[in-house]
Amino acid sequence: MQRANARYYATGEPFREFATGPEISQVFGEILGLWAATVWEVMGRPDPLLLVELGPGRGTLMRDALRAASQVAPNFRSALALHLVETSPKLRSLQEVLLPGAAWHADWREIPDGPMLLLANEFLDALPIRQFIRRPGGWTERFVFGQRFVERPAAAPPRDAPEGGIVEVCEPALALAGALGERFAATRGGLIPGVALFLDYGPAASAPGDSLQALRDGRPADPLADPGTADLTAHVDFQAFAAMARARGAEVSGPVAQGLFLTRLGLFQRLDRLARGRSPAMAAALLAAGRRLVEPDGMGRLFKVMAVASPNLPPLPGFAP
Ligand code: SAH
Repeated sequence: MQRANARYYATGEPFREFATGPEISQVFGEILGLWAATVWEVMGRPDPLLLVELGPGRGTLMRDALRAASQVAPNFRSALALHLVETSPKLRSLQEVLLPGAAWHADWREIPDGPMLLLANEFLDALPIRQFIRRPGGWTERFVFGQRFVERPAAAPPRDAPEGGIVEVCEPALALAGALGERFAATRGGLIPGVALFLDYGPAASAPGDSLQALRDGRPADPLADPGTADLTAHVDFQAFAAMARARGAEVSGPVAQGLFLTRLGLFQRLDRLARGRSPAMAAALLAAGRRLVEPDGMGRLFKVMAVASPNLPPLPGFAP
């Protein structure tokens, strides 16, 4: 369903067309950097620590995160080995400018062994989904053929839906959840294997429905027109992702609404500090950008945050009041 997306990220100019959290406000990455430094302490300060980001886009989140974390936790910074997973050569060349010295991989399966902390913002929604439709005679799967949808008979998907309903399955996301679950469950030599944080949009519980969306020039567009020229995304099925990670032995925290998560971690305090000493217009602009991340009609409610972690860790920051 989303083969065209790799082409879009490779050739298009994704970040002129929609703004992600880190591109809206620097506090997004800064807060995640402080979160990462705290979680490193919770993990028993492994050194070296693999700090991994999946789909880093322009590299803004990681740049902001490392700047904030180095100020409060220089030992954390010096323990890090940075690993970035990116398929787009164009975005990778932007990341090389902001994040010199990182290692790049085209696939998360290439990440080396060792204690790991992983961040992924708006990565899962870009992975291809399959859509199954419940018809009176049984299940079909929907495919793109030329510039239209066609349906072919299919086996029943893992979840049910009322007649005419669509069940979406994101196999690459489930494969990732399973692999992280296994990796984080296997303690070796007393080291905590890892924690991963996913920020993305979608409902907290699996729900039938067609969530495939195309954005062209920042506006909703026909997903079938001009393949490769629009950004294709789908809601993330957090419930299915969590179930898979748990089944393989990891613990899952959340999902919690992004607004709640960032507020608990001190978003408004950071915004205040950032605005201090600026002109009133500048301070108002900084505050407005920060609010977009947490307001219910901005990104505060539809966006969710979920952590997949090694079992028996103390509660992770942001997930408990
Ligand atoms: N995290 C960034 C960018 C989000 S856009 C931000 O918040 O601004 C999605 C990112 O995932 C892009 O960098 C895109 O090139 C990358 N991507 C998409 N599919 C991928 C895949 N299968 N493997 C690795 N990276 C992928």
